[in-house]
Amino acid sequence: MTATQTHCPYCALQCGMTLTPEIPRVRLEPAEFPVNRGGLCAKGFTAADLLDHPDRLLTPLVRKEPGNRESPLREASWEEAYERIVTAIRDSQERFGPDSVGCFGGGGLTNEKAYALGKFVRVALRSSAIDYNGRFCMSSAATAANRALGIDRGLPFPLADVAEAKTVMLVGANPADAMPPSMQYLDTGRANGAKHIVIDPRRTNTANGAHMHLAPLPGTDLALANGMLHIAIREGWIDEAYIAERTEGFETLNKANAYWPERVERMTGVPEAQLREAVRLLATEGPSMILTARGAEQHSNGTNTAQAWLNLALALGLVGRPFSGYGTITGQGNGQGGREHGQKADQLPGYRRLDDPAARAHVAGVWGIDPDELPQPGRSAYEMIDALGSDGGVRVLWILASNIAVSAPHTSHVVNQLNMTDFLVVSDIFPSETAQLADVILPTAQWAEEEGTMTNLEGRVIRRRMALPPPPMVKSDLTVLTELAGLLGRGEFFTDEPKAVFEELRRASAGGIADYAGISYERIEAEQGVFWPCPDEQHPGTRRLFADGFPTASGRARFVRVDHRDPAEVPDDAFPYVLTTGRNMQQYQSGTQTRRVRALNVALPEPRAEIHPDLARRHGIADGDMVELRSRRGAATLRARLSDGIRPDTVFAPFHWPGANLLTNPALDPHSKMPAFKVCAIALCKAEEG
Ligand code: SF4
Repeated sequence: MTATQTHCPYCALQCGMTLTPEIPRVRLEPAEFPVNRGGLCAKGFTAADLLDHPDRLLTPLVRKEPGNRESPLREASWEEAYERIVTAIRDSQERFGPDSVGCFGGGGLTNEKAYALGKFVRVALRSSAIDYNGRFCMSSAATAANRALGIDRGLPFPLADVAEAKTVMLVGANPADAMPPSMQYLDTGRANGAKHIVIDPRRTNTANGAHMHLAPLPGTDLALANGMLHIAIREGWIDEAYIAERTEGFETLNKANAYWPERVERMTGVPEAQLREAVRLLATEGPSMILTARGAEQHSNGTNTAQAWLNLALALGLVGRPFSGYGTITGQGNGQGGREHGQKADQLPGYRRLDDPAARAHVAGVWGIDPDELPQPGRSAYEMIDALGSDGGVRVLWILASNIAVSAPHTSHVVNQLNMTDFLVVSDIFPSETAQLADVILPTAQWAEEEGTMTNLEGRVIRRRMALPPPPMVKSDLTVLTELAGLLGRGEFFTDEPKAVFEELRRASAGGIADYAGISYERIEAEQGVFWPCPDEQHPGTRRLFADGFPTASGRARFVRVDHRDPAEVPDDAFPYVLTTGRNMQQYQSGTQTRRVRALNVALPEPRAEIHPDLARRHGIADGDMVELRSRRGAATLRARLSDGIRPDTVFAPFHWPGANLLTNPALDPHSKMPAFKVCAIALCKAEEG
C-alpha cells in the first residue's frame, strides 16, 4: 500500500501526516512537516476515524414528501436530488429574482472549493448572496489588519519565528488547547529565556506556562491595549524613529487621560503594575510579538479591539522587524485561504474587492464574462441569516461545510430562520444539526478522499492529498458545483478537476493582494508549501511581510484612533455575570466531526461550564453539579467545573456542543460584521437533575 503525505482535516496549523491504506483501516502517522515537526494533537491522531465512521453520509437524502420538512428523509439518487434542487432554484429566481438563491460556505473548504463556490454563486446563480462561517471566525482581525497594514495574512511570518522572540504576548489565544503542536515554538523560546504574557479571563493551559497572566473583564481588551499604549508613551518606550519613518496617523491617537492606568485598572480589573510590566517586557526585552486570537476579536467592537493591539505593536516599532510583529492566529483549517478566493459577500479572488471596477474587470476576464454580469456585494453571514425567507432575502439556501445551527450565535434564532427558507440544501460528511433541517442533504468527499490546497495560519499554501477514493455514491463539492452549474446552463465555466481549478485561481488572483500566480502544485510539493504573495514562478514566495514597507497607498502602516465602548450587552440585576465561550483540546469547532470520535469523547464526554468557586458558593453549586445558564436569548444546562483560574464574575462554556450558542449575542461589529460571541450577560442557578 502506498503512503500518502497529507495534512490534518482540522485546524489552521494543518499538521503534516502520513496516511497508509491498510486492511481493515487506514494507518495515520505524524509527519516531519515544517509546521508540526512530527507533532500531532489528539484530534489529528484520531482523524482516520472519520473516514469509515458509521454515521457517514453515503447517499443523497431527500424528504419523503417534497416540501414537508416534518416528513422523514429517505435515500435518493443524485439525479433526483439535483432535480429537486434545480427546480427550487429556478422557481425561486423566476418569482423572486436571482438574489433569492444563495450559498453559505465554510473555512474548511479547500482553496479550490472556496474559489469555485464564489464563482458558482456569481456566474451560475448570478446572485450576490454568498458568505461563509469565517465571518464568525476572525473577520475583525482581518479588517483591522487590512486597515493598518494594507494586507491580511494571519501570521505575517513563519510560526517558527515565535521561538526566536524574546517576549510574546498572546491576547485571547489558547494554543495549548486549540493547536497543541504549536506550543513547541513557545516552549523552545521559554527554554531560551523568552517571557510570555497571556491575556485571558481564564487561566488556560497556555496561561499556566506563561511568565505573566493578565485576566481582564471580557469586553475591555480595547481599554487594556490603549492603557498599555498610554504607559508606553508616558515611559518613553515607544519607538519614535520607527513611527516617523514607517507609519502615519500617530498624531490622531487618543493620548488624553481616558486611558490613565488607574482608570484602565478600574475598567479591566488588571492591576496597573501588571500592565506596566507587560509593556516594559514588550518594549525593552525584544524582539517582541503580539498575537491575538478569537478572544480579542469576537466582539461587537472586534475590529477596533484588534486595531488597538496593532496600534500598540506599531508604536513599539515591532511590525516588519525580525522575529517581531503582530499576528493573528487563524482557527479554521482553511480560515486563511477561505477568505482570499471569493466566498465572502464583498470579495473576489485574490482578496480583491467586489466593488472595485478594476478588480471586477480582471476577474470577469478570467471567468470569460462581462464585468457587468457580476453582482454587487451581498449581505454578510449573520445578516444573510437574519433575512432568510424575507422580501429581498434568500429563500433557497445551500450550506456547505458549516454547522450554523450549533456554531452561529443565538442558535434558536438561526434554526427559526433556516426554517423560514423555502428550500434548504446542506452538503456535509455527517448529518450535522444543520443538515437535519434540510430538504436535501448531499454527501460530500472528505479531506483524505480528494486533492486540493489549503492555506495555513502562516499564509503557507499546502497540498491536501488523496489517500483513498470516496465511497461510491459520495461526490466532491467540486463535482457537485460543476454538475449543478451544468444543469443551470453554465457548465462551460466550471471544471471539477482540482488542479485545473487551481490553475484558474492562480490567474484570477494574479496582481491581487493574495497573489498565488507563482504557486503551482509542483512547487508546493517540492518546497513543502509556498507562502503568498508569490507573483511569478521565479519568486521564492513571501515568508515574512513588511520588511521593506507596507502595501498601503503611502507605503506606511496606519495608526487608527480607536476608543473603548461597552460591549453590546453588559451585566445588570437580571443577568449579573458575563458568559465567554471558547475551545476544549479534544473538540473542533461545532463538533460535527470530533463529537463522533470515540477516543475524544471518552477523554471529554460533555461540555463543562467553568465557574469560580466563590460564584459557585453563592449559588450553592458544587463541582460536577448541573447548572442552568440563562441569557436574554435562551438557556443551556451544563455540568459545572469549579476553577479558581477564572474571574469570579465570568463563566466559560465551550462551543463545541449545542448549548453555549443558544445564549450568545449576535450583535455585530459594524466594520467586519463579526458577532459578539465572547461577551453576553447571563444568570445562573443550580439545575434540577434527572
Ligand atoms: Fe490537526 Fe490542528 Fe491538532 Fe495539528 S493541531 S493535529 S492541525 S487539530
